[in-house]
Amino acid sequence: MTTIVNDNQPILEVRDLRTSFFTGNVEVKAVDGVNFSVPKGKTLGIVGESGSGKSITSLSILRLIQNPGKVVGGEVVFKGKNLLEKSEAQMRKIRGNEISMIFQEPMTSLNPVYTVGQQIGEAFQIHEGLGKKKAIERSIEMLKLVGIPSPEKRVHQYPHELSGGMRQRVMIAMALACNPELLIADEPTTALDVTIQAQILELMKDLQDRLGMSIIMITHDLGVVAETCDYVAVMYCGKVIEYAQVDELFKNPRHPYTVGLLNSLP
Ligand code: ADP
Ligand code: MG
Repeated sequence: MTTIVNDNQPILEVRDLRTSFFTGNVEVKAVDGVNFSVPKGKTLGIVGESGSGKSITSLSILRLIQNPGKVVGGEVVFKGKNLLEKSEAQMRKIRGNEISMIFQEPMTSLNPVYTVGQQIGEAFQIHEGLGKKKAIERSIEMLKLVGIPSPEKRVHQYPHELSGGMRQRVMIAMALACNPELLIADEPTTALDVTIQAQILELMKDLQDRLGMSIIMITHDLGVVAETCDYVAVMYCGKVIEYAQVDELFKNPRHPYTVGLLNSLP
């Protein structure tokens, strides 16, 4: 008998995920039966217009939904285990060690009163038990990795002393400091100028080639999907209406909404 080795096993499978917001007796279904998987070492794009449920999906995966929102059903299977059944303490460990997230706005996610090195270094102090000096050395290495010039100087600066593109690079460095297996990037380039956008996307692709992590890239821009993703889930009104390999989606879109999206590309 031959054994079939599946080297493309998903690192994450989301099954029938449902998240709602409640006002009194009124339920608004933000995520309404979402299914997709992220093959190990690959990039899944989640694309859809504003309000389609992309961010709520990613926050649900990490169990970061707060009142009056609630995950009301489904499964989030990460490395074979359903995250929706984990305790809050277990989730905190997973968020710090195995799954990292990058948000849209680097200015609101960085703490203005700490230097770049203090913020990146904190991850090394917590996760690897390093002292301050070693943590700063590792932070400098991370700044080099994400292509920040003069890292020895930048590491001692505060967020407001950096450009928007550099701040987003710092966010990426922070997300990578714990060496995650899965990186969730929620519109990481939307707030940036077009040329900086291209540089950040190039950086993320390059980092994935070198570090081999799996990525969920959330965007409202199909152009970003074409450039950076292997698979894509198209969301509309809280549902995934199409899931396919990227080449396949561009060649042979099945859903009328996807056809419309493709036709609206410049
Ligand atoms: P996207 O990231 O695709 O722009 P979101 O995931 O942020 O969209 O939001 C999806 C839907 O969830 C929204 O259209 C809205 O109906 C609902 N929603 C999001 N946040 C809240 C909230 N704090 N309270 C009530 N409804 C919300
Ligand atoms: Mg969003």
